[in-house]
Amino acid sequence: MTDDLSESRCCVCDGELSHGEYCATCAKLPDFSVTDHGTVWTFEAISHAGHSFVAELDLEPWQLLEKPGSFAVDHRPARALREAIASAGLIIED
Ligand SMILES: [Zn+2]
Repeated sequence: MTDDLSESRCCVCDGELSHGEYCATCAKLPDFSVTDHGTVWTFEAISHAGHSFVAELDLEPWQLLEKPGSFAVDHRPARALREAIASAGLIIED
């Protein structure tokens, strides 16, 4: 981490900034990908805002998947979590 923001890069891929804190490619990405697997849903943070949201969740170690920002949730609370993500203003990939 550095406090020097004079050479800011895309917060997702480290590419050249053009859309706020994102590059042209990442600006088009949703914040979250949510997949319904039936009894378990998987959530994956894509954007910086998505990762920030995940960092504030009180996740158990068993919920965390290999990919950073990815985790699994039982289908019952998953629906409410999906709504919480949407009401936080984050875009969920269809
Ligand atoms: Zn990018």
